[in-house]
Amino acid sequence: MGGSADLDELLHELRHRGARVTTARRVVLAELAASSDQHPTADQLAARIQRAHPDVHLSTVYRTLEFLEGSGLVFRAGFGDGATTYHLSSDRHHHAVCDQCGAVIVLPDRAFDAVTNRLRRDHGFEAAPRHLTITGRCARCAAT
Ligand SMILES: [Zn+2]
Ligand SMILES: [Zn+2]
Repeated sequence: MGGSADLDELLHELRHRGARVTTARRVVLAELAASSDQHPTADQLAARIQRAHPDVHLSTVYRTLEFLEGSGLVFRAGFGDGATTYHLSSDRHHHAVCDQCGAVIVLPDRAFDAVTNRLRRDHGFEAAPRHLTITGRCARCAAT
């Protein structure tokens, strides 16, 4: 299931990995917890964060995202149009991205169960797809 993770849990996870909880790390995680399923880009995140925290500079937001990605708390999803978006790693889901209009459909974590079951059965392979992106055409574009 998707949904927003609890901020306290994320901060706990951060400390657990031996990282300090700085203001920037806290506000970036809070913003992601609130908007994870909207797949914000770094620029969008930075703009939202700056409104409430003018003291947190753009470069800090970028550096913080890089740090959080490196520590596994944040996942970076690149979509077909070159946009790089961010969401929490704990927010498990997959993406169907339309090649034509760029629409992003969030798929449940179990969307590829039939495939992973088949891989296990036929190849003994334990697939663990995470934040998969599958491209194609959305219903609206496919209809035209
Ligand atoms: Zn996503
Ligand atoms: Zn489309």
